[in-house]
Amino acid sequence: METIRTVKNYINGEWVDAENDGVIDVENPSTGEVIAQTPLSTVAEVDRAVAAARAAFPGWSTTPVTQRAEYMYSLLAVMQAREEEISRVLTEEMGKSLPDSRAEMKRVFQNTEVACATPMLQQGKNMIGCAKAIDGEEINLPIGVFAAITPFNFPAMAPFWFIPYAIATGNTLVLKPSELVPLTMELLAKCIEQSGLPAGVFNLVNGAKEVAVALTEHENIDGLSFVGKSSTCRLVAQKCASLNKRYQAMGSAKNHLVVMPDYAHMDELIRNMSTSCYGCAGQRCMASSAIVAVGSEMYEKVCKKFVEDSRKFIVANPLDPAVAQEPMLMGPVISAQSKKFILDMIDKGIAEGATLALDGRNLKIPGCENGHFVGPTVFTDVTPGMEIHKTEIFGPVVVILQAASLDEAIGIINNHQYANACSIYTQNGHYARKFKLEAKCGMIGINVGIPAPVPFLSFGGMYDSMICDIKMQGASAIRFYTENKVVVERYWDED
Ligand code: NAD
Repeated sequence: METIRTVKNYINGEWVDAENDGVIDVENPSTGEVIAQTPLSTVAEVDRAVAAARAAFPGWSTTPVTQRAEYMYSLLAVMQAREEEISRVLTEEMGKSLPDSRAEMKRVFQNTEVACATPMLQQGKNMIGCAKAIDGEEINLPIGVFAAITPFNFPAMAPFWFIPYAIATGNTLVLKPSELVPLTMELLAKCIEQSGLPAGVFNLVNGAKEVAVALTEHENIDGLSFVGKSSTCRLVAQKCASLNKRYQAMGSAKNHLVVMPDYAHMDELIRNMSTSCYGCAGQRCMASSAIVAVGSEMYEKVCKKFVEDSRKFIVANPLDPAVAQEPMLMGPVISAQSKKFILDMIDKGIAEGATLALDGRNLKIPGCENGHFVGPTVFTDVTPGMEIHKTEIFGPVVVILQAASLDEAIGIINNHQYANACSIYTQNGHYARKFKLEAKCGMIGINVGIPAPVPFLSFGGMYDSMICDIKMQGASAIRFYTENKVVVERYWDED
């Protein structure tokens, strides 16, 4: 019988077997096949990784920023050469389509490219002559050892919201990827090794909650970047605040798409909405899962056409060569547990009186009987406050609501606990401007279904979608990973 390999940790420049407290099976969610095991690493393992990162910090933080950036260029080249290999592993362990995995890798590259600009981005500023013979200066210094803890849905991009920025600014890092998808990060860590980065600057410890908690509480970790459910964000935020650690905690979402009665590009509208809702089987923090149509005429049109378009999605194993390159392909959700939650939420929607206009349950994919598939599912006649509207379902389940006016639509968004992103579809500048200014979400789209910012812009939500102050990516990332010191200096004139 073929043995299933257990993923190793990468500590102080070495690949090491974890002294583990057991393992978690890593499944291919399309087939249910076990493809590897994640070790449940111990606190001792975390201590070793943090000690390696701490020991590497003095040398790394004083390495000239131009040299640190050179490593980012090398890393970029190594990752680009292995893009297809990494994308396939990502699809195998996570279940998103290959085009989606490749798009995710592009974000990995772009974040690394932005970090290549650290010699520009980390610069401080100064003011000569604040007062007589007094100059003022702001300098941005590396802080120390950071930890990053990431979710399952972006096994490559989420770690790269942190790795290149933390390292290029002169910090060292310990990363714990999601226990459900360790294989993509294993390959990316091999790329980091191949780039020649000095030992200890980047470390990888696999595991689940115990490793995450040990990192969050560790006295030698100066700051922590976290992405996951809002409920986990709260735990992280409370712990970090009580220990006076710097932290970022990016949480759950329920992103709304508002369509105004003036919007005439119906085919583009519907396709834009459906790809936002069903990409990655609805498991994106930027996926839309709630549509608000303004006016009864637009509501009727959207309900009918959205259901029609939803039926066109091919639900299949994304590595099946017969469909792998299809643009409207939807893979499985991540696990049996996740599928059960989604099905329970569909039952809840029916029980609370919404109309199940398209039912994605009971889907059978030949050859994938043990896969975790849910088909596109649409509820109409949904009202704010229903559980299916309040809860992040994180699957291909879309709720459609009707509003009488733009004010009402904005009210629906602003009364929701999650506020990651929202979009409006309109050609009317007044509506667009009002929406941009009044909708309380961290990321706003106008005539785009997924307003995900490119990496030189900041990424982050509001309210329960972002339980911290400093966003990810671009200049925000540089700010998060550096200590801003102010120097006021005076020299007396020499005679
Ligand atoms: P999750 O919260 O279950 O797990 C995320 C990570 O937290 C994992 O690595 C897990 O091992 C770790 N963890 C578990 N218990 C912990 C604890 N007590 N303390 C610290 N860490 C702990 O999230 P998930 O199911 O993997 O990811 C999906 C969620 O992530 C969704 O809610 C999604 O919206 C959100 N997400 C948000 C963004 C964003 O930018 N806002 C991006 C991607 C995903």
